[in-house]
This record gives sequence, C-alpha cells and structure tokens, in this order.
Amino acid sequence: MNTHNNTHKAREHLVALQDELEARLGRIEAERLERNAPDNEQWSDQAGLHGRDDEQMAVQLAAKGELNQIKEALTRLDAGRYGLCAVCAEEIEPERLEALPFATRCKTHAV
Ligand SMILES: [Zn+2]
Repeated sequence: MNTHNNTHKAREHLVALQDELEARLGRIEAERLERNAPDNEQWSDQAGLHGRDDEQMAVQLAAKGELNQIKEALTRLDAGRYGLCAVCAEEIEPERLEALPFATRCKTHAV
C-alpha cells in the first residue's frame, strides 16, 4: 500500500480546489459589491438584476458548501482519517476519491 503518497496527492488536489473556490467566491463578492455601489442605484429596481442576484447567491452557496467539504477533508487528512467511508469505515475507492476528493462515503454508501 502506498497511503502516504496517495494522501499527498489528495492534499494537493484539495488545496488546488480550495484555492479555486476561494478565488471564485472572491470574484462573486467583488461583483456584488460593485453592483450594490451607490452609483448603480438606478438599476436596483430592475427585476432582471434581482434574478441575477438570486442566481449568484445560489452559486455562492454551492461554492461555500463545497469549500466546507474540502476543509473537512483536509482536517481528516491531518487526522489520518482521510479516504475512509463514514458508514463502513472501509477505504473509499481511489477512482472515486480522484473524481470527488472530498467524498466521505464509499460507492456502496454514497448518497
Ligand atoms: Zn461504505
């Protein structure tokens, strides 16, 4: 077994995803602040803009949720519990972790 090497790769993958999500959230927030600036007040009554806000809110929530999962996965890595199924405590399939590095369940117990 080559667990050390695998967790090293997983950590790199997770950190890269984390950086990407944080950058995405930063962009969304910057855009939102720009739109809500007093200069743009004339636009605030437009329905289309509110729709866009909702859409961005959903994207933002999804990104935040994913970011939390990544942070939890990094915590599990530090604790040496990474890649174990939360239900049966067996190792999660490597190809599943490759596709979903913050997976907490094996294929059998995936929701
Ligand atoms: Zn399982």
